[in-house]
This record gives sequence, C-alpha cells and structure tokens, in this order.
Amino acid sequence: MKSIKWKLVLVYIILVFIVMLVSGTFMLMQMRSNETDKARTQLKECADKINGEIISGNKSAELFQDAFENLIMPQGVQGCILDVSKQNQTLAPTQFLNMRFYDSAIENAMSGSDGVGFNLSKKDIDVNNTAKEWLTYAVLAGDNSRYIIYTRIDASPINENLSKITMTIFFMVIIGLVLSGVLGFLLSNALTRPIIELTRVAKAMAGGDLNQNIKVYSNDEIGQLSQTITEMAQEINQYIITSDSEKNKMETILHNMTDGVLAYDSGDTLIHANSASEELLNLGDLKRIPAKDVMNYLGFEDGIDQKESTIATGDKFILSTAAYYLDINGNKAGVVVVIQDVTKMTKLDNMRKEFVANVSHELRTPLTTVKTYTETLLDGAMNDAGVALDFLKVIDSESQRMALLVQDLLELSKLDNKQLKLDLEVLDLNALICQCVKQNVILAEKKHQSMIFTPLKNACFIEADVGRINQVLTNIISNAVKYSPAGASIEISLEDAEAYFRLFVKDNGMGIPREDLRRIFERFYRVDKARSRAMGGTGLGLAIAKEIMEAHNFRITANSELGKGTTMILRFDKLRVDGETV
Ligand code: ADP
Repeated sequence: MKSIKWKLVLVYIILVFIVMLVSGTFMLMQMRSNETDKARTQLKECADKINGEIISGNKSAELFQDAFENLIMPQGVQGCILDVSKQNQTLAPTQFLNMRFYDSAIENAMSGSDGVGFNLSKKDIDVNNTAKEWLTYAVLAGDNSRYIIYTRIDASPINENLSKITMTIFFMVIIGLVLSGVLGFLLSNALTRPIIELTRVAKAMAGGDLNQNIKVYSNDEIGQLSQTITEMAQEINQYIITSDSEKNKMETILHNMTDGVLAYDSGDTLIHANSASEELLNLGDLKRIPAKDVMNYLGFEDGIDQKESTIATGDKFILSTAAYYLDINGNKAGVVVVIQDVTKMTKLDNMRKEFVANVSHELRTPLTTVKTYTETLLDGAMNDAGVALDFLKVIDSESQRMALLVQDLLELSKLDNKQLKLDLEVLDLNALICQCVKQNVILAEKKHQSMIFTPLKNACFIEADVGRINQVLTNIISNAVKYSPAGASIEISLEDAEAYFRLFVKDNGMGIPREDLRRIFERFYRVDKARSRAMGGTGLGLAIAKEIMEAHNFRITANSELGKGTTMILRFDKLRVDGETV
C-alpha cells in the first residue's frame, strides 16, 4: 500500500474497530453483570422466602412438600430444599424429589464460611428432562445448617437477550466500520489532496517547470507549506531569469567584443571562446586544439606567470593577457586569456618612431651643411668675398629648406590635431584651377613643358577653403612639373560626375613604381629621395594635400605607370542647396 491515502483509511478503520470492539465488549460485560446481579437478587429473595415461609415455619421436613404447594415463586424461578445429611437429597417440592443436583453453588454454600454459593450458566436438566442453562443459588438454612435451599432461574432468556445485544453490537460495528471507511476515505482525501497536488507540483518543478501555481486548499500546515513552496519556486524562477539574463548579457558582451576572450577550466578544457578570439587567432576550431598549444602559440611558453605576450602573425600584431580565475574557495579554477589586435597601435607606434627618425634625418642634412659652411667661413673663407657669398647663399637656401620643413610639419601637426579651421566658402572650381594653372604655367614653360587645362563649360560650385584647396592644387600641379622631364605635357581636366567633380592632373613624366604608389601619401615618403631633395621637396606635400582633402570630405588618389606618367585624381563634392546639387 503505497498511497498515504489508503494508509490513513486503514488506520481510521482499525481505530474505529478497536474502539467499538472495546466499548461493545465492555457494554456486553456490563449488561451480563447487571442481568446476573438482578437474577442473583431474585434467587436470593426466593431463597429467603423459602427459608422464611417453609423452613422456619415448619419444624418437620415432612411438612415442606405441602408448604411448597402454597408457595408462589416468580416466573422462571425454581427452588427446592436439599437435605445435607442425606447427601443433598431433595426434600421438597415433589417435582424435584427424584432429582439430584451437583452444582458448584451447592458445594460453595457447604464449604464457604457464609454458606452461600452462586453459579452462572450451569447446564442442567429441567423437570421435563430438557437440558438448560441455569443461574443457580444455594444457601445453607435451618438449624445446624441441615438444609440447603437451592434456587435456580432459566438463563436462556438472559442469554438470548445478551446474544441479541451482541448481534446488535456486531451490526453496529459493521455499520461503524463501513461509515468509518467512507468517512476515513473522505477525510484522507481532503488531507491528501493538497499533498498529492504538492507532489505533482514538486515533480514538475524538479523537471524544470518552475512556473507552477499550487492550489492552496486551506490555511493549515499543508496550506502554508504549499504557499511557501509557491513563493520559493517564484523566487527561484526569478533568480533563474535574472541569472539567465545576466548570462545572456555577458554572452552578448563577449560576443560583441572586438577583443577575443578564451577561458579554460582547471582541466585545460576550453569552456568559452568568443567569435573575436577565433577570428583573431585564425587557427580553426579552437576546441580541437590543446590548451597548451594555444598558449604556446600566444607566446606563453613559460606558463602565464608572464601575464602579457605580443606576437606577430602575418600582418597582424596580437597582444594577449592571461590571468587565473579562482573558485569560491580561492583555488585556481582555470585561465582567462584576453586577446587584442594591436596592429593599428603597433603600426602607429612604428610610424611615430619612423616619423621622428625622418624629421631628425631631414633636419640633420641642412643643419650639417649650415654648420660646415659657417665653420668654414669663420675659419677664414669669409675673407674671400666671392666664396663667402656662395657659402652664404648655400646657408640661406638650406635655412629656407629647414624653414619650409618646419612649416610643413607645423601644418601637418595642426591638421592632425584638428586645429586647422577651414574657412569654407562657395567657390567655382573652374576659376580656382584656372588661377592655379596660371601660377604654375611659368614653371612648366621654364622646363619647356606644355600645360593645358580643359575647364567644364558650366561653373563648378563647391564649398571649400580657397587657400587650402589652392595649396593642394599647387602641390599636385607643381609635382607634375617637377617629376616630368623637359618637353613633357601636362593635361588638367575636370569631369562632372553625378554628385561630385573629378579633377585629373595628368603628366607623361617618369611615373611611380607600383610598389611605391600606395605609399606616396605617407609622410616623408619619396620615390627618389635624392631627386626630391634636389628639387626642394620635403616629402610632406602629398601627405598635407591628403589631410586637407579629407578635412573637406574630399578625396585624392593616384594612378601611375612607371616611365609613362602619373595621373592624380581629386574628387570634390558638389555644392548642395536644400539637398540638391547646384
Ligand atoms: P616632395 O616634396 O618630395 O615632392 P610630395 O609629398 O609632394 O613630396 O611627393 C611625394 C613623392 O611622390 C615625391 O617624392 C615623388 O617621388 C612622388 N611624386 C609625386 N608626384 C609625382 C608625379 N607627378 N610623378 C612622379 N612622381 C611623383
């Protein structure tokens, strides 16, 4: 019997059965004792009557029989007088004369100190020879206790009564048991229903479904337990929701981080790797690679005591930082590695170093020249006016070079720091280029170069800083002159593209080798250093031009073929009024 419900029913039935059995038995015993007491009193009264009316009233035993004839006995009670001296032979009444009574009541009366005996349910025969159960009473009477008065009453009516009552009690027990069974069932049902409901909900919760609402049937202990479990489940659910959302948040953060994050547990199993880490390392499925190999690859050959390591892979620089994470007991639970792409930073750092080296180098040459010439002058060359003049001219030109260089550097620095404020105004690109061409055409003519500008028919309005754009145009056009031989032709043309104007400055000069082409906009980058320097170039012109163009949101690119010529392409956004180009 597994169910508590049936156990309760059984206990209830057993309890009721025991109570009814005990109380029934007690009732029966009480009734039986009452009945026998009543019979005993009746038998004693009859015996007293026989004693009073027969034995005491008649001196002679012969008279007893006649005296009995007149004696009226209650219904069912029989009485007789026995002669002790004649082995208890019956003296009267006549119908008992031939009967002998062997009864413990008689023996008790004879042997007992009070001379009284009583016997319950003695089986004996009646006068009509039928065996019956009797309640008997015997008492010594007469002088010297010569007689025994023996009275008896038929026990059958009493027994019948008792058995009827027993049957009634039996039926009552049966009815009581049935009723207790039904009531017990209803009661245990009421008791176990919330427990069954609790069990069902607890099982569902154990299965992970915490969104359960337990029906509270009452406000008793079980009701309170149900209430507490519901609240507990809600709290756990809330906790799970919070921790899930925290986890999701963490996952999203890790997933969207540009830095890679790897986490290994103490058994060197990869427990987390975000997509950035896989992209940065580019080693394929990281789960398949042993932790040691990954750590070695990242430069942690001596374990993570080293904490930081930078490696170069392909054109990338990767900085990794590793640290142990601890469990709640403070023991090492694994390693977390953060991987950063420091390519840009490293390149910038390299560029900075290169820039400083370039500036020093650019300044050192003219400075050395100035110093040498000055020393020579001081050493006596100044006395020769001709030589002194030549020397001073060199010193002047070198100083100018240095001044130019410093000026360009300052310009770049302003552009870098966004200190350069553009004085924007609407201007006609056609007119601006025309003016610039005019300024440079003299230079070209000196080299016997032709310079042709084909303007667009319409005015080309752009919004820009005239001075700056003029600076860019001058640099581009003067470069075309500078890096093209005598007799070369320089074609300058404008094109009207949808949203912008494109300016082409095309020369058929020396051109730029393919590998240098993408670097000519870098600071101090010169294809032919000696030639550039000889022409007074600083190597910063195109870098400045690019910065200026980008400050305007314009663009500059270059196409070139070595030995055939170079085309610089400048793109200017058209002026827009109310969203429409003009
Ligand atoms: P520089 O002061 O040396 O002229 P720039 O920044 O103006 O510096 O130009 C960078 C380099 O690009 C030059 O040194 C030169 O080698 C190359 N260059 C620029 N324009 C041309 C051109 N039209 N034809 C060939 N080479 C050019």
